[in-house]
Amino acid sequence: MTAQALQRDLAVVIGLEVHVQLETDTKIFCSCSTEAAEDEEPNTRTCPVCLGLPGALPVLNEGAVEAAVKIGKALDADVAEETRFHRKNYYYPDLPKNFQITQYDAPICADGALEVSVEGERRVVGIGRAHLEEDPGSLQHEGGNIETADYSLVNYNRAGTPLMEIVTEPDFRGPGEVRAFLAKLEEVLEYLGVFDASRDGSLRIDANISLVPADEVGEDGAIDEATLADANRTEVKNISSHKGAEQALAYEVTRQKNAVKRGREIAQETRHWDESRGITVSMRSKEEEKDYRYFREADLPPLQVADWKDEISIPELPDARRERFREEYGLDAEAASKLTSTKEVADFFEDVADRFDADLAATWVADDLLGELNYRDMAIADVEDRLDEFARLIELVDSDEITEKNAREVVLRTMLDEGVDPDTVVDREGLGKAGDEAVVAAVEEAIEENPDAVEDYHAGEGGALNFLVGQVMSKTGGSADPGTVNGLLRERLED
Ligand code: ADP
Ligand code: ZN
Ligand code: MG
Repeated sequence: MTAQALQRDLAVVIGLEVHVQLETDTKIFCSCSTEAAEDEEPNTRTCPVCLGLPGALPVLNEGAVEAAVKIGKALDADVAEETRFHRKNYYYPDLPKNFQITQYDAPICADGALEVSVEGERRVVGIGRAHLEEDPGSLQHEGGNIETADYSLVNYNRAGTPLMEIVTEPDFRGPGEVRAFLAKLEEVLEYLGVFDASRDGSLRIDANISLVPADEVGEDGAIDEATLADANRTEVKNISSHKGAEQALAYEVTRQKNAVKRGREIAQETRHWDESRGITVSMRSKEEEKDYRYFREADLPPLQVADWKDEISIPELPDARRERFREEYGLDAEAASKLTSTKEVADFFEDVADRFDADLAATWVADDLLGELNYRDMAIADVEDRLDEFARLIELVDSDEITEKNAREVVLRTMLDEGVDPDTVVDREGLGKAGDEAVVAAVEEAIEENPDAVEDYHAGEGGALNFLVGQVMSKTGGSADPGTVNGLLRERLED
């Protein structure tokens, strides 16, 4: 930032390095499981390879490569014909080999893009590259945080978990855009079935941020390379959630702007996001590429992906599916978006829509089922294999065997709470709709027994009809259809 730059308005520039843990059964270079047991002991999910013992050799996990190719295709990136691995050398206690196997000059994916919607506006975020690497182990700081702990313990259970590092272009102009991007990215990754957002630490973000003179930003939002290279930037590490990213970046925007205002130079450095204090703290001056002494990983031959990548297919992605749902099923934007929130929800909806009218299917899945599941902290995955029971519930309503109210408030809820099928609930609770005759008889009775209400009705008192409907409902044990009762009463009273 030069002296005259201080006098100009500033624009925010942000680029991300997103580390995504890939959902494979085993680690990237050994056959240790990636699945952490709930109360596992430290350093039990390890072997000579992921502990970096001398002489142990890595064997590449084909599942990790397939996941990487899927991500590349979903991000509209070029998937390499041949890709290579490198050693990135640095010393850190969670890195037992003193180098991380990663990719350098021949990443598996390059030149992609992801479209996001920010406050209704479509934005395209460039993806510079995306490469495979191994996750280090994890440190547990005892008696404090990274700065204040008495000592730290190291656990290698995570070491060797496959990671995809997705590096964006510096295309974000504010923290809010970052949050929208991360949500979209997670949605796509989950559709691909390569990522589990519910896994702790499965998405970790390094955020690069700088300020540039606002008049250097072109009308289309572009900033030239020289300006970007000139701007001193900080790299904020240790961000592990969308909200954390937005907060850390908002903090950093303010900190950098204040520094510029006071005429201070912004140091090119690595900073640590301290989530509990809500601030970023300087860690070290930013390392440069040459510090890492990258060299070829001789234990892994170059990987040919040329033919293989064509055999790897990806499912329809959320945006496309949303669009198709609107066209094919005539859904409005809100319903289409709800019903495509995850691939499982969308698949379930389409299975229901195969059997019923699309509107009916949409109402029952989007409004009723998702609402009740959400209330119970359950997900579609918990009822996926009960499609037939759910269809039977809709059929019971659709064929007028039970009332909508009972279907919603009794049958569906009991199905979810007790895991029973709808017919069992209907029988047990006696919810079969009262036959026409029983309803007509109840209407007669109610009129007979309540001459005052009948009089009020004829005097034009609105509440009287409701009262009579209530009487009929209670006589039929709630099993009559309120609309039908209302109609029958009016007809009979107007006679
Ligand atoms: P380096 O080689 O220094 O790591 P890269 O070109 O690999 O730099 O970019 C690393 C990350 O920094 C990318 O996410 C990129 O978008 C981001 N970045 C680059 N220039 C800037 C800038 N001026 N301000 C903010 N982020 C930037
Ligand atoms: Zn291992
Ligand atoms: Mg870099």
